[in-house]
Amino acid sequence: MFGIYFHIPFCKSKCGYCDFYSVASQTLVQPMVEAMLQEVELRKNYFDNIVIPCSTRKRSSAQANLQIEGLQVKPAMTDEKNEATLYFGGGTPSLLQPAQIAALAQKVIQTFGVKNVTEFTVEINPDDATTEYLQALRNIGVNRLSIGIQSFFDDDLQRVNRRHTAQQAKLSVQNAQKVGFKNISVDLIYGLPQMTLEHWRSNLETAFSLNIQHLSAYALSVEERTPFGVQQRKGQLFLPTENEVAEQSALLDELSAQHNFTRYEISNFGKKGFFSQHNTAYWQQKPYIGLGPSAHSYSGAQRQNNVANNALYMERIAGCHSALDAETKFGASQSPNREIAGQARNDKFFELENLTSEQRYNEYIFTGLRTMWGIDLNYIEQVFDKKLYDYCCKNLSQLIDNKIVILKNNKITIPQNKWIVADSIIVDLIWA
Ligand code: SF4
Repeated sequence: MFGIYFHIPFCKSKCGYCDFYSVASQTLVQPMVEAMLQEVELRKNYFDNIVIPCSTRKRSSAQANLQIEGLQVKPAMTDEKNEATLYFGGGTPSLLQPAQIAALAQKVIQTFGVKNVTEFTVEINPDDATTEYLQALRNIGVNRLSIGIQSFFDDDLQRVNRRHTAQQAKLSVQNAQKVGFKNISVDLIYGLPQMTLEHWRSNLETAFSLNIQHLSAYALSVEERTPFGVQQRKGQLFLPTENEVAEQSALLDELSAQHNFTRYEISNFGKKGFFSQHNTAYWQQKPYIGLGPSAHSYSGAQRQNNVANNALYMERIAGCHSALDAETKFGASQSPNREIAGQARNDKFFELENLTSEQRYNEYIFTGLRTMWGIDLNYIEQVFDKKLYDYCCKNLSQLIDNKIVILKNNKITIPQNKWIVADSIIVDLIWA
């Protein structure tokens, strides 16, 4: 199963904490949709060259014995290519008309030959969530909503410059249920300026009372180039202390468990059967394609990072697409510009990064230990260089002895009560 992600780089306004790429303008929405449709055409062969990390033991003799820079891999099988998850994120995908979302979805389904879309998620801002809009999304096959609520208090929402109200936040979930959505995720943030434990408790209780299936709860992280980063430098941002944030995280554990939500990733909680398939695939190193400005793709061997600039993205996609047209029209040998799909130096709409075995190992450790599944020592031994396996085991021994991580059936996990400091534990296993 592969992931297909669309990044919609528009917002009505910018929130104080946000460092995702988007612009606070909607004038170029339709031209951007057209550029993204062209990007799909330019990358129609993307999934043909996918390789999947594999264990030497499990690999059948019929499969090619491949190794890419110290990593055991196998070509993706056809049945793996038939299933996909679709995810519209951003930015604010709910600024797109349902017909625009449908056009993009249909294009990738046809182009990549997807037979079965197992999950189709659209991120929604509460003020866009009218019953008419949500019904139209249901009609085009969207089966999961991720609603960016962040808080059910108006004063929080104003402090972070969200454009919706607390009332709209609740109504968005109710409207989604009214039109029949049965897989609804809500985003909340803790550690917000001036947030108290009781305030956070109330946010969680409100979310759970709305009968949602999934919760993404993020600890606020202040990034330098955001309005919050500026306020912090000026001494104008009044955040809860580290201890207070740790208490909020502990309360999150407690209340989510009480409501039968499993914390399956550091910031993600789901009821049984409702874990995000799309995001879980990222954390399990499954290949995905990211389309649109600033989107990332992962092919098993390479990472592709699209340019994070709307004007440059559209200009370069147009250049590459004209070259592709010429190639189709005149044939490859007579095309005026054979350097297609971003290969021409001045036309690139993305940067390509060939991943080393060490980078892939680091990613496996970093993402795996942030989930309840942890990391698998058998997998590390069979898939990566011996030096990386030895390095991992050597550094793990003290963490296991000190009960900082748990070893069970050759799998390593971080106990849930230590997830708040997971990054400082993971750093000991990262190859530097
Ligand atoms: S609406 Fe979402 S993407 Fe846009 S600025 Fe706010 S948090 Fe960022």
